[in-house]
Amino acid sequence: MESFTTVAAVRARFEPCTTRKVLVPTMGALHRGHVRLIELARQAAGEDGLVCVSIFVNPLQFGPDSDFAKYPRHESADNDLCRDAGVDIIFRPSAEEMYCADRSVFVEETSLSETLCGKSRPGHFRGVCTVVTKLFHILSPDAAVFGEKDFQQLAIIRRLVRDLDFSLEIIAVPTVREQDGLACSSRNQYLTTDEKRQAVVLQKSLLAAKQLVEAGGASAADVRAKVHQMVSAAPLARVDYVELVDAETLQPIDSIGANSLLALAIFFGNTRLIDNVRLT
Ligand code: AMP
Repeated sequence: MESFTTVAAVRARFEPCTTRKVLVPTMGALHRGHVRLIELARQAAGEDGLVCVSIFVNPLQFGPDSDFAKYPRHESADNDLCRDAGVDIIFRPSAEEMYCADRSVFVEETSLSETLCGKSRPGHFRGVCTVVTKLFHILSPDAAVFGEKDFQQLAIIRRLVRDLDFSLEIIAVPTVREQDGLACSSRNQYLTTDEKRQAVVLQKSLLAAKQLVEAGGASAADVRAKVHQMVSAAPLARVDYVELVDAETLQPIDSIGANSLLALAIFFGNTRLIDNVRLT
């Protein structure tokens, strides 16, 4: 496995390569969810192709009161995980390598970013779109892999690729979960034992809402009420949002249809967890 920290070096390695190149963008503190992304990247690249994992805690996508400084950074464990998973290249640039001090160009999506996490975290998706655009330019991958856990991010990246004519395939990966149903996340390690026990309410409430819809006759208000009721039964949980949206436009919906998505963000202390489910 090779490791690069500069744009020039990784570009020099990638550019002459004629086999299929697949990128897995991450912020590190890698877990089983990331491993699944790497497995699908390998499938897409083929045995002769190149799988590159970028590890970059992107300051641009963190707000001023966020967990940027304390975001987990586990360089040696991440190296081991990547090596075991068969990654060919790690690209781990510093913030100074990625951003000039007087940077003045950003990439902004202006519709899908207005709701859900975009509403709670102003500027977050501008940071995501800017860094992903830079990674696509630096590495020119044939495909890039993203998780459905961050459903809004995935939708925004697809829009970015469409609207800016990037020539690459976006591969989506279903959410990987712990045994108890909690979606794997680098932020799960912030949770206390009690918080972690209660955090299963995210998936439980989503599944209960799905069942309610499948039983027939439930309105969007019924679904939201069911989730709120279940989440409020977990004493350490605090709702950021519980939203029903159209899975294409990410705009809020009043009635449940063929394309409905239920998404939520729940705080445990300062730790914000997200999850989602397709309702139909
Ligand atoms: P992160 O390192 O949290 O920025 O995530 C990097 C990529 O891994 C993103 O595309 C995430 O959607 C994806 N990812 C994170 N957690 C999971 C999970 N539990 N299941 C599937 N994909 C995930």
